[in-house]
Amino acid sequence: MFQSLQDKLNGAFKTLKGKGKITDINIASTVKEIRRALMDADVNYKVAKEVTDKVKQEAIDRKVMIAVEPGQLFVKIVQEELTALMGGKAETVNLKGSPAVVLIAGLQGSGKTTFSGKFANYLKKQGKQVMLVAADVYRPAAITQLQVLGEQIGVDVYAEPENKDAVNIARNAVAEAKSKGKSIVIVDTAGRLAVDEVMMTEVENIKKAISPSEILFVVDSMTGQDAVNTAKAFNDRLDFDGVVLTKLDGDSRGGAALSIRAVVDKPVKFMSTGEKMEDLDIFHPDRMASRILG
Ligand code: GDP
Repeated sequence: MFQSLQDKLNGAFKTLKGKGKITDINIASTVKEIRRALMDADVNYKVAKEVTDKVKQEAIDRKVMIAVEPGQLFVKIVQEELTALMGGKAETVNLKGSPAVVLIAGLQGSGKTTFSGKFANYLKKQGKQVMLVAADVYRPAAITQLQVLGEQIGVDVYAEPENKDAVNIARNAVAEAKSKGKSIVIVDTAGRLAVDEVMMTEVENIKKAISPSEILFVVDSMTGQDAVNTAKAFNDRLDFDGVVLTKLDGDSRGGAALSIRAVVDKPVKFMSTGEKMEDLDIFHPDRMASRILG
């Protein structure tokens, strides 16, 4: 994961590691290299500058130059600042209500349906009574895809293939879940290839109709800065609660993971690392920072 970023950061640290004494010039040039590595990984300039400025300031405040092992202390500071950049600590989802309603939104192909299945599977394993809802009225294949996943993990899937009103389907699904005593309803919505007004209005109307306790925005981490821009566009309309980063098993460069929190001010809550139902993890900023540093 994030191999190129990891290599570049380690390259930057090399000039400090093993040195008994380092100078402010060493620090300044290392910080500059880190900034370049972050930007190469698709972290936007402003975020890369802010985080490296903080690293520099911390290095001064904590007297890295006269530390016993300056290289190690410097790497520790970078680790702490990257963790803070990604939100500091892992965040949970809010599953209040009976049933609790979770709304899943994002672009087509981002991994929404796959994540909905994974999340249902994860909750089922905790003993929850889960219902999945196919609220994509544009692609009949999306309904079938969710039904196949539902069967695979043993979770009921609510669908109305003849109904073209997604808001109505979502509302009916929640009523059905209530009557069946389900504890959690996960509503998988339609996505488009790009942010568009019809899709945004529809998902906004679904939100109004079913008052979810948690809205998760799903985004493909391989799309770099576009991932961050899409997250911003969705958040402006939906005010979502958390982000799901997908396809971290691919060759994504790391920019989305590192900068979504800073740009959108919403936490990444889950990461998806494959197509299998088990490939889902809670996002831990500190573990991610350690991974990035290798
Ligand atoms: P949706 O259109 O947003 O519902 O996206 P899908 O859930 O249909 O996912 C689009 C494609 O990406 C499918 O082929 C999935 O199997 C694949 N996919 C989803 N999540 C991941 C992931 O974390 N890693 C990989 N490698 N593929 C994924």
